[in-house]
Amino acid sequence: MNANILILYAGGTIGMWEDPATGTLIPLDLKDLNKYLPEIQGLNVSYEGISLKTPIDSAELTPSVWTELVEIIEANYSLFDGFVILHGTDTMAYTASALSFMIQGLNKPIILTGSQLPLGRLRTDGRENFITAIEIASTRKNNEPLVQEVAICFGERLMRGNRSWKANTEIFDAFDSPNYGNLATIGTHIIFNEQLLFRSKKTLKFSKEMTEGVGVLKLYPGILPSSIAYALARPNMKVCIIESFGAGNVPRNEEFLNVFKEAIDRGVSIINISQCRRGSVDERLYKTGKAFAEIGAIFGHDLTFEAAITKSMFLLAQGFSGENFRLALLENIAGELSEN
Ligand code: ASP
Repeated sequence: MNANILILYAGGTIGMWEDPATGTLIPLDLKDLNKYLPEIQGLNVSYEGISLKTPIDSAELTPSVWTELVEIIEANYSLFDGFVILHGTDTMAYTASALSFMIQGLNKPIILTGSQLPLGRLRTDGRENFITAIEIASTRKNNEPLVQEVAICFGERLMRGNRSWKANTEIFDAFDSPNYGNLATIGTHIIFNEQLLFRSKKTLKFSKEMTEGVGVLKLYPGILPSSIAYALARPNMKVCIIESFGAGNVPRNEEFLNVFKEAIDRGVSIINISQCRRGSVDERLYKTGKAFAEIGAIFGHDLTFEAAITKSMFLLAQGFSGENFRLALLENIAGELSEN
């Protein structure tokens, strides 16, 4: 039996087709996919395409797009074997992370892909990425989909969505998954690392709400405690993600720590993640990290920035706060955290 795949077009470079007559870029019409990608017929899949209400340059992404994607996937979940989302690369890792929290208990693949060059251009990477994403979304083993999670298919690899980030604006292998191995290596063959694939024990659940009360602060040598106090005083901010140094270290002077402590006492959850993309924060290593943990900062281990933001938006929308928020943030929902 052919796999039945739903293709969702959210926008981005991959969806741009060059009109040969005028040379201008026009958005792809999914109804004509056979025209743009005749190779798709050799894949032995049946497919349907849906465009979002307003396909966007993904720099303009807002959480309402995630809600729209969740609604479409929920309405079509039982009708299709897998889902491929065509998305701009700029914020693809945020969408992949958000969907991994908003749709829990997945037993089908949701594969995001995009491209650095428009699909209609010579030398485009979009053609390979698109076809490979469909092939991965339709791969089955033992009568069930092989991939049962949200993943990004780009260049030479398939990566867990909530472990990925856009690391390069130019090369075709634009994404990286610094703290988790590739789910598959894409070359002459697609070689899956089956032991790394996620299997959820939860029952299928679609959530459509995200709360935007999350702030971010990146530390740098010389940042003033007064600047931090100002940033932490933002009205309605319930969570602030601090990008700290190295393994989660912050200056240990009292004035600095007090600013954070005051915010924590007011009920703001402070999440500590590292400015380093590879590795983890760890309060056991240095006095400068330990002091931050002692005042109540939550150490986010090896969460990516994208996963930390979207998981916070998701947990706040679920009503978590205070100690419950801390426990929920540190609980692995969709393979976003390494065991420590
Ligand atoms: N600005 C585009 C976007 O993210 C870039 C791309 O798709 O590669 O929508």
